Amino acid sequence: MLGLMQEWPLLCHKIVDYAAAQHGAREVVSRSVEGPIVRTTYAALRGRALQVAQRLERDGYGLGDRIATLAWNTARHLEAWYGTMGIGAVYHTLNPRLFPEQLAWIMNHAEDRCLFVDLTFLPLVEKIAPQVPSLRQVIVLTDAQSMPETSLANAVAYETWLGEADGDFAWRQFEENTAAGMCYTSGTTGDPKGVVYSHRSNVLHAMIAALPDAMGVSSRDVILPVVPMFHANAWGLAQSAPMVGAKLVMPGGKMDGPSIYELLDSEKVTFTAAVPTVWLMLLQHLEETGKTLPHLKKVVIGGSACPRAMAEKFERVYGVEVIHAWGMTEMSPLGSLGTMKPEYAGLEGEALLDIKQKQGYPPFGVEMKVTDDENRAQPWDGKTFGRLKVRGPAVSRAYYGGAGAEQFDDEGWFDTGDVAHIDAHGYMQITDRAKDVIKSGGEWISTIDLENLAVGHPDVAEAAVIGVAHPKWDERPLLIVVPKPGARPSREVLLSFMQGKVAKWWLPDDVVLVDEIPHTATGKIQKMALREQFREHRLPDAEVEPRAARGA
Ligand code: ADP
Repeated sequence: MLGLMQEWPLLCHKIVDYAAAQHGAREVVSRSVEGPIVRTTYAALRGRALQVAQRLERDGYGLGDRIATLAWNTARHLEAWYGTMGIGAVYHTLNPRLFPEQLAWIMNHAEDRCLFVDLTFLPLVEKIAPQVPSLRQVIVLTDAQSMPETSLANAVAYETWLGEADGDFAWRQFEENTAAGMCYTSGTTGDPKGVVYSHRSNVLHAMIAALPDAMGVSSRDVILPVVPMFHANAWGLAQSAPMVGAKLVMPGGKMDGPSIYELLDSEKVTFTAAVPTVWLMLLQHLEETGKTLPHLKKVVIGGSACPRAMAEKFERVYGVEVIHAWGMTEMSPLGSLGTMKPEYAGLEGEALLDIKQKQGYPPFGVEMKVTDDENRAQPWDGKTFGRLKVRGPAVSRAYYGGAGAEQFDDEGWFDTGDVAHIDAHGYMQITDRAKDVIKSGGEWISTIDLENLAVGHPDVAEAAVIGVAHPKWDERPLLIVVPKPGARPSREVLLSFMQGKVAKWWLPDDVVLVDEIPHTATGKIQKMALREQFREHRLPDAEVEPRAARGA
């Protein structure tokens, strides 16, 4: 027997329809790439998204065509997204922080036909376009006045192009499992892999992300997604915000402390989200100026582990609730969030910060387990670590073109490549990427735990821990530190600071100070590059030279 409820396919344009109908006057504010702050509304944004859809169809695009974007978070980028999805074409967000050759590789792999690009990245596109034969058209997200000279034959100013459509258009209808978007994972090893979102997965993810114990956003919120749309759908906020009718504030290309502070303050932002490096810049700005955050209620921190000192500052000094979140491009991207179940609701002080160090628990729609090397589920005891596996309606079941098939098993579990443990209340804590974990004397040492501890020292701006070859223990931890301006903390000072806070055999064998730690395009520490850089590093107590010990 079948239910007798209506078929109402979960299509992304229904989100913007809803926002326009119920929250039509709500503002979408952007720091434009041209400079000034510009304002529009959900009603106007929907109208322009319809124009985009109509104009794209007129140019010959339709179901399944990949339409790339290389752009910051702005209202124009958002309307281009919804317009693209509204004809069943597939938005493909490109990360401008990748190398030009990587971008060309990704565009060729996805066979992008059209590209929306911000003025900032036009020189980059001029360089790579000749290497992407599928690319027919480049639409520059600006008006005729600001349109620069370009060597691209097929480039047009967005406002001119859009002005040729009147918006008298009906969204196209298709099945909810139709592809809506694409995003390639950064691919720190091997080639990047394409994740393909569906309309159904995007809509479900937006609902899941908005739930009270997930991000917990509402029409009364003012949301500033600092996390870019090219970084896994702005963690779902590009869809959750219109779905709940929240005012949106889009930061454009400026993510430095003063620029973010300006928006937080002038637009009275209540909710924001970004990677730790962005919050380091903001906190530094607040410290230097003595400014406070009177409007901000919640900050979501994820993409890499939120240092304890950062959570402490936001919560204790500025009165902002920290939600530590974990996810992946493959998960649309939210996997878990550290909001408090009643079991942990009464915690305060250090005990509360201990829980905030964990990446939280999955919302409805994400199943999670930790397994050993034989694929046996491990106990939820908060200490037994293993490989973290997930499944759910907004989790990938394959990569585009069939790459990485070994990460998906027959029961639908996706192997995240992360190492984690889960506690008795379901809270998960990432201890490492499987490829970064340090194997010392047959036991595992979590590099993330050590990094978090090290950045708690007042002289440390950033820290990374890697395994260095050791003749007796296979690998031992090396702590790499970027000191705060003017500070030169010694090895002894740092190690004695860490002593007693972790098992003795976890303590790094050595410390080096550097000016800079390399980061990936999504803001993560490039451990591979560091391992390469310190391959020959000689640990103080390693009596045999490491390379010799490996038989090299
Ligand atoms: P995103 O770009 O959304 O961060 P990626 O797919 O680039 O997603 O990277 C996902 C990886 O980032 C995860 O597998 C995990 O290793 C790391 N990561 C994400 N959030 C956290 C977090 N809160 N703590 C530690 N690692 C994290």
